Amino acid sequence: MPSYTPPLRDMQFVMHEVLKVTDDLKLCPQHADTDADTINAVLEEGGKFASEVAFPLNISGDEEGCTLDKTTHEVTAPKGFKEAYAQYVQGGWAALSCDPAYGGQGLPFVVNQCFYEMLNSANQAWTMYPGLSHGAYEALQAHGTDAQKALYLPKLTSGEWTGTMCLTEPHCGTDLGLLRTKAEPLADGSYAITGNKIFISAGEHDMAENIVHLVLARLPDAPVGSKGISLFAVPKFHVSADGTLGKRNGIYCGGLEHKMGIHGNATAQMVLEGAIGTLVGQPNKGLAAMFVMMNAARLGVGNQSLGLTEVAYQNALAYAKDRIQMRSLSGTKAKDKPADPIIVHPDVRKMLLTAKAYAEGGRALGIFCGVLLDKEHSHPDEKVRADSGEMLALLTPIVKAFLTDNGHISTNACMQVFGGHGFIKEWGMEQYVRDNRINMIYEGTNTIQSLDLLGRKVLGNNGATLKKFGRLVAALVEEEGVNEKMAEFITPIAILGDQVTKLTTELGFKGFQNADEVGAAAVDYLRVAGHLVFGYFWARMAQVALREIAAGNTDQFYLAKVQTARFYFAKLFPETATLMRTMRTGSKALMDTDAALA
Ligand SMILES: Cc1cc2nc3c(=O)[nH]c(=O)nc-3n(C[C@H](O)[C@H](O)[C@H](O)COP(=O)(O)OP(=O)(O)OC[C@H]3O[C@@H](n4cnc5c(N)ncnc54)[C@H](O)[C@@H]3O)c2cc1C
Repeated sequence: MPSYTPPLRDMQFVMHEVLKVTDDLKLCPQHADTDADTINAVLEEGGKFASEVAFPLNISGDEEGCTLDKTTHEVTAPKGFKEAYAQYVQGGWAALSCDPAYGGQGLPFVVNQCFYEMLNSANQAWTMYPGLSHGAYEALQAHGTDAQKALYLPKLTSGEWTGTMCLTEPHCGTDLGLLRTKAEPLADGSYAITGNKIFISAGEHDMAENIVHLVLARLPDAPVGSKGISLFAVPKFHVSADGTLGKRNGIYCGGLEHKMGIHGNATAQMVLEGAIGTLVGQPNKGLAAMFVMMNAARLGVGNQSLGLTEVAYQNALAYAKDRIQMRSLSGTKAKDKPADPIIVHPDVRKMLLTAKAYAEGGRALGIFCGVLLDKEHSHPDEKVRADSGEMLALLTPIVKAFLTDNGHISTNACMQVFGGHGFIKEWGMEQYVRDNRINMIYEGTNTIQSLDLLGRKVLGNNGATLKKFGRLVAALVEEEGVNEKMAEFITPIAILGDQVTKLTTELGFKGFQNADEVGAAAVDYLRVAGHLVFGYFWARMAQVALREIAAGNTDQFYLAKVQTARFYFAKLFPETATLMRTMRTGSKALMDTDAALA
């Protein structure tokens, strides 16, 4: 059976020692009083909820899965899920970073980011029920009418109701411009919505008293393609103006998917038969409104893999210290035992350190993005709000795709540490691999994320935002350029920064002549950009740790940080060289292959 200890020390290190998040938060009036002690106390309690309430349901939820009653269309979540959710609601966890105007606690998003990392480590499938509600909350807050906000936001804030996002249809997932679900206007200003949605996470369940579905559909005479999509709020139970629940609406679960992982989360086929909904935002501008939810969800999906990477690492580390097998190549280490613990073997260390480096790098990036979100929403200076939003938009596809790809690498490596036992269910490691796999697919596949990054966010604005990130790297290079102890961390990011600038210009030029060049390079480009970002945060973490060590601090935490940074730059970061080479081979080896793929 796996175990899980919330990584509070590392979160505190990143928040308070590296990024100094309260300096930024102090400038946001609504967070001015949120000090480090408050953040730490909330996360300590949050860690207890994750490890003591959600975590014990992870394996049982995977084994049991969800069940659908085909007559009533009711879905029952695995045993214990409902009770854990009631505890979550009662503890006020749903309200953590929601607006006090709707009953929220108004804490910074960055706190929620860390809380959700722990929930994801504990139980990704369970966490998706409350997790999606956050996105629905944000979309309604940004684009809802006053009446919709009054009706839905207090209930989503308290967690009494949950939310979903209903985009995908059987014939379209990536290309939402093809969607067919129809919305007919009714005399009272509402809409009757008819169609079929598939793969809807948390689409139906028994954990909350109502579910608010955010549904994409087409109005009559809507333009074809993505310019003709509108967004609707469709409750599972009708809601009267005073908030009381009425009869069931015409939206129900027609079937549950049987799938590779996240068994505890209901992946529902949703049938809409004249379901009554209200328009969210402007007609035909639904995709833009839904993007608020999708962006929140993309950051959330990266956080899912961060959580899985951390928990897989913790368990693999414990196993590698305990399992004895063969002797160390450089001589016996455990003389009192018939063999050495496998942690003495270089490749076992490589697997462990890979997961550790990706978890800690991902945590730093996730927390950085949490603060950007806080500044985007609450900073009094309009320019800071706009700059923060722009940087967050650049980093979102990197969080989504780089962290989930790293989660794939890491959970697999951690399972491998267990040898054959990793493949056996009892140890819980194969579940982390299976659960992580969906993170690379949903919320826009990682290929789509890479096209968003290279096509829209980088080439789309001539690299302007990327240059802003480059300036952060340059400032660190400038600050530490003459510090010999930092050279092993600073030189690689300085070189890669220059290489990425050159490469981006090259790709922009090639893409101008042939757009397939962008498609051929995008996935590799995102990985290179991911390493530039991780390299920057690893260098900053090493900087703080080295300063502590130089000041005489003997806490092994700092030495561990420097050693992990060294590993990261020696063994993981250099893959950028290969990726840049493969990118430069261009699209020909892919597109001139009709005979090969005939
Ligand atoms: C467990 C689970 C939960 C989900 N939860 C939700 C949910 O809550 N709400 C919701 O609406 N949807 C949900 N989805 C749907 C998910 O978001 C889609 O499956 C995903 O976006 C991909 O769409 P698709 O499956 O139709 O694949 P397709 O769009 O058919 O793509 C197939 C392949 O082609 C590639 N591809 C497509 N277009 C391009 C292109 N232009 N360039 C390069 N490659 C391309 C894709 O990357 C992919 O590899 C969920 C799916 C699963 C499996």
